[in-house]
Parts: sequence; C-alpha cells; structure tokens
Amino acid sequence: MRIIIHRGADEIGASCVEVAYGTTRILLDAGTSLDGSVTVFPDDINDYSAVIISHGHQDHYGLLESLPESVELYMGDVAWGFLQSLRIFTGQPPLAERSRICLKAERPFKIGEIVVMPYLVDHSAPEAFGFLLSAGGRTIYYSGDFRAHGRKAKTFDYLCDRLPREMDAVLLEGTLINRGNSHFSDESKVEEGIIDAIGKEEGLVCLSCSAQNIDRMVTAFRAAKRSGRVLALDIYSAWILRVAQKLSKNIPDIRWDGIRVLSHNKVALGQYRKIKQNSGFFGDFVRELYHSDNELWEKDIVDSPSRYLLKLSDFGLAHILQKLRKPSTVIYSQWSGYLDHDSSAYNEPAGALKALAGERFYEIHTSGHATKEDLERFVSQILPKTVIPVHTNHKHMFGALFSQTIVLDDGEVFDLAATT
Ligand SMILES: [Zn+2]
Repeated sequence: MRIIIHRGADEIGASCVEVAYGTTRILLDAGTSLDGSVTVFPDDINDYSAVIISHGHQDHYGLLESLPESVELYMGDVAWGFLQSLRIFTGQPPLAERSRICLKAERPFKIGEIVVMPYLVDHSAPEAFGFLLSAGGRTIYYSGDFRAHGRKAKTFDYLCDRLPREMDAVLLEGTLINRGNSHFSDESKVEEGIIDAIGKEEGLVCLSCSAQNIDRMVTAFRAAKRSGRVLALDIYSAWILRVAQKLSKNIPDIRWDGIRVLSHNKVALGQYRKIKQNSGFFGDFVRELYHSDNELWEKDIVDSPSRYLLKLSDFGLAHILQKLRKPSTVIYSQWSGYLDHDSSAYNEPAGALKALAGERFYEIHTSGHATKEDLERFVSQILPKTVIPVHTNHKHMFGALFSQTIVLDDGEVFDLAATT
C-alpha cells in the first residue's frame, strides 16, 4: 500500500490523504484550508476510485463542490445534511444531489482491492469516523479527527479494543500535540461551567457555540433545563438539531418542552428567507417553527431576559444585547483563537460580543481533539509499526512521543511495501 498526504502533513485543515494499492486509489477527506489559502483536488482526480469523508467539517469536505461525478463519494448522511444546510444558510446554492454511499459504523466495504472498515469516533462533529484500510496483507488506520473527552468518549476505548495490534501504519491527527486542552477537560465539565455561569446571572445569558457541535447543543439544553431556563435557538440551530435527529432521538429537538425558536423579527428574517427559497429541502419544518408551542419574538426575550439561555449566531446575539441594553452574560463556547486579534482566524462578531459582555464574558469550552496524553494512550495500546503525523502544525513533535514516527511532507510518497 502507498500513502501520500496531498495536504495536511504540516497543517491543521485542508485534509487530503491518498491510500493506494495496485490501481485502486482512494482519497481520505477532501478539505479546504482554515487559513483561506487555495486548495484543489490532485490534477488526476478522475483517476481515483473514491473519496471518503471522515466527518462534516469543512477542512475535511470543503472540496466536494468540485468532485467529478465519476468518482464515488462515501460520506455520512448527517454530514451531508450539515454540508447542504450550511451552504443554504450562508447563501450558497446546495450541491447537486449526486450518488453517495452512506457510511455506517463497522459496516465494511471494498473499493477495488482495498477493504475499508469505518469506526465511529468521538469528535465535536457528530457521526465522525476513523478508517481501517487493508490490502495485500497490509493494514493502515486513518484517525480522522478524534478525542476521548466528549459525549462519546467510550468510543475511544472501544476502538482501542477493536483495532488490530501492530498494524503497519497509523495516520494520526495531532491538533493538540503542542498544547493542552482548555481549563474544561471534558464535556461534563463544560456543562457544569455553563450552569455556574447561568447561576450568577439574573438577566439574559447568551451562548456562542457551533450549532453543528451536537455534543455542545446537548450540553446547552441540559444546562438550560438544570438552571430552570428555556433554551432559545435561532432557526438555523433548530434545523441542524432536526438533521441530527437521524443519529439519535435523544438529541434535543424543537418538539421538546424547554426549547423555543426565535422565529420572528430581524434575526429570524434572513434565515426564514433561506428556508422559503429552498422549501423542498426543509419539508414541513417551517410549519413547526411557527407553531405556538415553538415560536418566540425578540420582545419575549427583552421583556423576560432571565427566562432564557439564548443561542444564536454571534451577530444575532450582539443584536439582541444592543436591543436589551442591560448587563448580560455571554458564554463563549468555541476555540479561543477566534477571539485573538493577532490571529488570521480572528472573528469580528465574536470580538464584538466580548466587548458587549465586558466582565460577564466567560470562555467555557473543551476541544474536539485528542490531548497529547490520549494520543500516547492510543498508540501505546494499538502499537502500530509506524506513526505518521497529520492534521497538525507540529509534526516534528511526534518523534519525541513515538519512536516509530515517520514524518512526511505534502506530496511525498510513502510505500509500505518498501518497509519491513
Ligand atoms: Zn473536525
């Protein structure tokens, strides 16, 4: 088997890894960069048999827009739903429906001569997979993005039990290899932190987080409920929870008590228009939004701010805070890099929220990625012959942790047949 990291050998983002055997060539992930630099498929993309997407984050699927129909696409159904939803709500046309093969955990499939086994992993995107690939008596595992401190933390030990020992190579993500996780070591600590912050506030509590981080949305619902508040969502967040219902009926939904949707006034209008323009995609959802049990006006929040934990876009939250004109708490539950003025990832609406909240601004977050200790735990259990860093800004730090590390550059061919 051959491995080529087309992109992502020395970068967090733009993930694109080729695994090939004989004439079968597969791309694992097809992501765009997080720093805005241009990313493209290899020139000979038409010669590949398939693209397999590990999970629904743009740095793993962002190139799909230009994937030729002749190349098979393997992807989770919910990841595809999130991709299409994000495109619609950000004003991009949805991708043309194309033939897709739906990934299911531990349902192996064969592409040419390569057998692929998907394993469910714990990540900040739901329905995230790692892949075990076998051909010609060789075995490779591609970790995708994973961790051991989210709501599916148990999948970490399960995976370690299931994976073969002493396989030929592991392509291992190293997002956190050079830094610790936040002060909140796991999702349950985030829940407690949010409850503490709500407990200190007699007015409105705003929550800034990714709606597609379903673990965090579950945390938001639980924290609101345990604090005696209603979770108020924007239309986009409510829709994303509906898409995620395919994974589990335990994921909160607008049909549940304790959830309302801000479906009127300025914040809602732009999102409502997107739904009207793509009514076939959303089905009956719009009727549910405007059911009296679900709907909410901006005035409801302004009149009774202490009733709500409000989760909107940063832009939407800033609008409500300006309208309310009362001291309010903002819980920032995302990567702190978006708040760093000196970073290319700086997010202006998030910075504005921080300024509006002043002393009542709390950062409460846990990472979507494995800690250095968990990476060590993973490797020490499955004992791969080779560890190849991916999805990291610090690939040269792997060698100090794993003596079997082989560091690749983007585009370099690593041939397992040449190793013993
Ligand atoms: Zn990810």
